[in-house]
Amino acid sequence: MKFEQLSLDARVLAGVKAAGYTSPTPIQEQAIPVVMQGRDVLGLAQTGTGKTAAFMLPILHRLATQRGPRGVRALILAPTRELAEQIHQATADYGRQTRLRSVTIYGGVNPRPQIEALRRGVEIVVACPGRLLDHISAGAIDLSKVEVLVLDEADRMCDMGFLPDVRRILKHVPARRQTLFFSATMPDEIRTLANDILKNPVTVQIGMIAPAKTVSHALYPVSDKRKKDLLLAMLESTATARVLVFTRTKWRARNLARDLEKRGYRASALQGNMTQNRRQQAIDGFRDGKYDILVATDIAARGIDVSEISHVINFDMPDTVDAYTHRIGRTGRAHQSGEAFTFVSQNDEAMVRSLERLLGDPIERRHLPGFDYGVAVADSRPQPEQHSRQPQRPPSHSSTTRQKPANTSRPRRRQPRRRYTTQG
Ligand code: AMP
Repeated sequence: MKFEQLSLDARVLAGVKAAGYTSPTPIQEQAIPVVMQGRDVLGLAQTGTGKTAAFMLPILHRLATQRGPRGVRALILAPTRELAEQIHQATADYGRQTRLRSVTIYGGVNPRPQIEALRRGVEIVVACPGRLLDHISAGAIDLSKVEVLVLDEADRMCDMGFLPDVRRILKHVPARRQTLFFSATMPDEIRTLANDILKNPVTVQIGMIAPAKTVSHALYPVSDKRKKDLLLAMLESTATARVLVFTRTKWRARNLARDLEKRGYRASALQGNMTQNRRQQAIDGFRDGKYDILVATDIAARGIDVSEISHVINFDMPDTVDAYTHRIGRTGRAHQSGEAFTFVSQNDEAMVRSLERLLGDPIERRHLPGFDYGVAVADSRPQPEQHSRQPQRPPSHSSTTRQKPANTSRPRRRQPRRRYTTQG
């Protein structure tokens, strides 16, 4: 299918072309026609599927072609500032020729510019719930003209405790409206909210559970103590472009990023204790090539939209399969391939089994050739019976040892090669 077949306004189509898209992704193919009919939509889709354009293109089409009253006509609620910025940026890109105006609203930054933008007039508001409620209470925003409401990553909003805020906001939006509801998963609370606010919705569902097929997954059994050296050894010996590393805590993200920097890698942390400005700088630096490696926590990494991430490395196992799906959703995007490496220690066995159920296949165990795992490695490998056929000795997987191919290689300032046999 081609975008031209979707009957989008020529100005919106020009935005799509400028973004370099040629054909719609499956969720866009399914959702755009129903949103254009004015129907409510329940979209079960994870990040990386093209869901932002799936709702934003028909919204831009509607606002550009149907005259409406002055005021905020579309409200998009998102759980994090990063996701709000990403949606706003996509809106600006796709809507460049429409003259529609969009603003982001979130906390942690000076509210003045937001209030001034609202005063000047905007048609589209992309907001995180907390700060939006502040503006509502202060009378700085009028939502009585909203025609389309979008809830993006509703499950994450629930995780972050935003559902009461969302319900409060709903009281300020007209009951007669179109509602588009997106979530990667459907826990009970989310289903209840969806039932409450959607009217006769059309459900569109894309790869709801399994991570993108373009990602290959591997486990690296290692003791917690040796993780840092394993990461360094891996970075030395593996062909990587942009690498996103996930840690369990903000503290671990900060320290690991510092250690990588000390060793000459162009790395930055991305974690919740950083100011909004510093977080944005980290994301921009990663996107623009200033950093090759971003070390992030789950929450801080939500909504980062950086294409061409070649590797996601789970330095620490995520807490849930859903978190795994979200982390991995950062690579293998839009038809590119990516690799997902997960460091596993003894305590992660149950999670490994859940992941294998999710993926429907055993995940390959790998060992980095030449790396000194220390004595604990044999004990630290989760070995469920079904994988007894997996090799016990370090296999020589070519993907872990190959050198950088010229086309993915990015200049990386680095100190002289370290040996990986040192303890640390
Ligand atoms: P999303 O799921 O909205 O976060 O989008 C994931 C990535 O896919 C973003 O980098 C988009 O720019 C990109 N994308 C969205 N739609 C298309 C498309 N039709 N063709 C190619 N890339 C796309």
